[in-house]
Amino acid sequence: MITRRPTRQIRVGDVAIGGDAPISVQSMTNTQTSDVEATVDQVHRLQAAGCEIIRVAVPDMDSARALRGVRERISIPLIADIHFDWRLAVAAMEYGAQGIRINPGNLGGAGNLRKTVDAAKQHGVPIRVGVNSGSIEKDLLESLGYPTPDKPDSLIESALRNVRLVEGCGFQELKISVKSADVLTTVNAYRALSQRIDYPLHLGVTEAGGLIGGTVKSSVALGILLYEGIGDTFRISLTRDPVEEVRVAFELLRALKIRERGPELISCPTCGRTRINLFGLAEQVEAYIQTMKSPLKVAVMGCSVNGPGEAREADIGVAGGHGVGIIFKKGEIVKRVPDEDLLEVFMDELKKMEAERRPGRD
Ligand code: SF4
Repeated sequence: MITRRPTRQIRVGDVAIGGDAPISVQSMTNTQTSDVEATVDQVHRLQAAGCEIIRVAVPDMDSARALRGVRERISIPLIADIHFDWRLAVAAMEYGAQGIRINPGNLGGAGNLRKTVDAAKQHGVPIRVGVNSGSIEKDLLESLGYPTPDKPDSLIESALRNVRLVEGCGFQELKISVKSADVLTTVNAYRALSQRIDYPLHLGVTEAGGLIGGTVKSSVALGILLYEGIGDTFRISLTRDPVEEVRVAFELLRALKIRERGPELISCPTCGRTRINLFGLAEQVEAYIQTMKSPLKVAVMGCSVNGPGEAREADIGVAGGHGVGIIFKKGEIVKRVPDEDLLEVFMDELKKMEAERRPGRD
């Protein structure tokens, strides 16, 4: 049983973060933000995968201006990621950003930060104070050292210093992140920070890596933190199509029984009993269920000897055999189908089951 750490609540557009709000899933586009068409297309794909908040890089004024066109065509809150130039932060909010992510210490001084915060107040836009291992101020590195799992202090102090800078401008609509590329440093930094402030926390492992390495690192770090009730929104960072980030994020939430979205695939690893191309079948079923919304458990098993029994928890499943595959529901065999028709018949059964499960039909 997970008990969430109590925090204040803020809103990014119509999504609440912190307090009793569901833990929200974010991603970040990797298009040129100034290319409105490409950015909107990618956001739409991310929305379809379940992404609830989208962040875009704003490295120049063309990108800031493009936010208006992007915002008009998407239906999830839009956050602008800004470094160094307060003018870009102010422009981003004028062009429709519903949140900004900044490192307050790198905007060129107190005056520029105040202008940025004043614009955030005027537009009702929350700020993420985002620090990471690479952005820690020199004096903190000299006095506290580079953050390590045993001593993440410089990362935490950097975050607190930057939070105080924004608070000093009379602003508290904040969420905070302290990302490191190291899993245990990330875990210990967030743990310690959660004891010191009650702002919502945005979790993430920075520069986590590719699909496998990045998924493992992010899942370990964020899995520990979420299980301890720490974290109110998060992004899985992968060197991949960002749609994969969202898929991993929801699998992580599902594994921790925090949130469910769409079907869960249960599939066997195959063994010497497998007589069909199970990898191909599992891939096709997995691709299909990405489009489904009901939280069904769908099993794809290699044999009819152990398959249905092993997947007894599944709502519906398919198992290969010798020329004849079987379809089962809740562990009971309901149909025997020639291999060549197996996928088609199974998909029909799946669609029927989803139709029965749709809201209003339960
Ligand atoms: S379900 Fe059958 S094929 Fe798959 S691992 Fe188990 S015994 Fe092997």
